[in-house]
Amino acid sequence: MDDIFSKNEPFIIENVFFNDRNADIFIGGDGRIGSIGPGTAKKCSGDAAFSIDGKGALVLPGLVNTHTHAAMTLLRGYADDMPLQEWLADKIWPLEANLTGKDVYLGTKLACLEMIRSGTTAFNDMYFFMEDAARAVDEMGIRATLAYGFIDLFSEEKREHEIKATENMVKTIRAMNNPGIQPALGPHAIYTVSPEGLKWIAGYSAGEDLPIHIHLSETEKEVNDAVSQWKKRPAEILDECGVLGDRTIAAHCCWLNREECALLGKRGVHVSHNPVSNMKLAVNRAMPYHWLKEEGVNVCLGTDGCASNNNLDLFEEMKVAALLQKFSWNSQTLLPAGEALHMATTAGARALGLGTGSLTAGSPADLILVSRHTACNTPFHNPVSNLVYSCNGGAVETVVCNGRVLMHERVIPGEEKILAEASEAAFDLVKRTTQ
Ligand SMILES: [Zn+2]
Repeated sequence: MDDIFSKNEPFIIENVFFNDRNADIFIGGDGRIGSIGPGTAKKCSGDAAFSIDGKGALVLPGLVNTHTHAAMTLLRGYADDMPLQEWLADKIWPLEANLTGKDVYLGTKLACLEMIRSGTTAFNDMYFFMEDAARAVDEMGIRATLAYGFIDLFSEEKREHEIKATENMVKTIRAMNNPGIQPALGPHAIYTVSPEGLKWIAGYSAGEDLPIHIHLSETEKEVNDAVSQWKKRPAEILDECGVLGDRTIAAHCCWLNREECALLGKRGVHVSHNPVSNMKLAVNRAMPYHWLKEEGVNVCLGTDGCASNNNLDLFEEMKVAALLQKFSWNSQTLLPAGEALHMATTAGARALGLGTGSLTAGSPADLILVSRHTACNTPFHNPVSNLVYSCNGGAVETVVCNGRVLMHERVIPGEEKILAEASEAAFDLVKRTTQ
């Protein structure tokens, strides 16, 4: 089986379940879907270098994780169930202060491995040592939008440093020439980046056509501090600095009021919902999905980093999103399964401008096969319901990204080494920090 992985060759996936019937998929050497439907295998077999058996699995577009700090996989399970300030100040920040580029490379490889295993083919990341993260993504073969976490703490000197670091990262990633990896800008949040810094981000984004990835209104404190210091709410501050637009993805958005939702809709901002992280960190309010939906905002899904989740499984995230919205806003009909699936696929792809997220001839071949020979898909009354409410990422059998097979029958080449190296790096990081 080894010779099917990561090849730029045309191939066929036979016998998948697509649009309520059996079908085959022909994937061209250009990384795009050539044909999908019944009889495709017969029609295209002469053009394929190899074929794989889908075993009747359900085919879906690859999932898109729109808010991560991938290398935080190294912090998984290191500290949980603590008061937020203590958790950050005593546990998370000291570890992060000791992170090296090598740690980020190994942590990001582990994150990519975990995402592939649970059906994610693209992610939107904000962290440090992003050149090392990019190297990891390049080796793993999935797509990523990578932003350096820009934090100037209202100091001009620090701002100059962050601007240089951002410009250097954009240059390095562009020079890699991997069309699956795009640079983005990552102003951390309004309480860590000055208005001058935000304005620089807005101008640079417009000039270079770069996405912006930011945290927005995660906690009530963020809103209260903004109102008492600036007499404005967080979304208004971002808008005044020019940061809100259709290149912008705002994560969390738990404490938006109605007017801010309307503003985000008007500006075309994409919102990444992170329900597991929000619940774990007890932010005490769910993102107002119903208002954002009414305002036409493109709402997608993200896991956040592994310290506050503690995995990268978007199947779980879909379920928790659908449950949290219902529970918080007292509505059994809010965020039905179909909308949760849309958030994790099409909406995420749109937010990142990937051109993926649908299974049609000509679109990039980013797709996953979900087993039907599992308890979570038995019985098969309603595939969408099963995917959101019953399955987790363990039901994913095969993953194709950009026309390349990254996992088949749950085998990913090189997995053992990635696990061993990440585990060692995580232990070493704790040792260095606590000595
Ligand atoms: Zn975050």
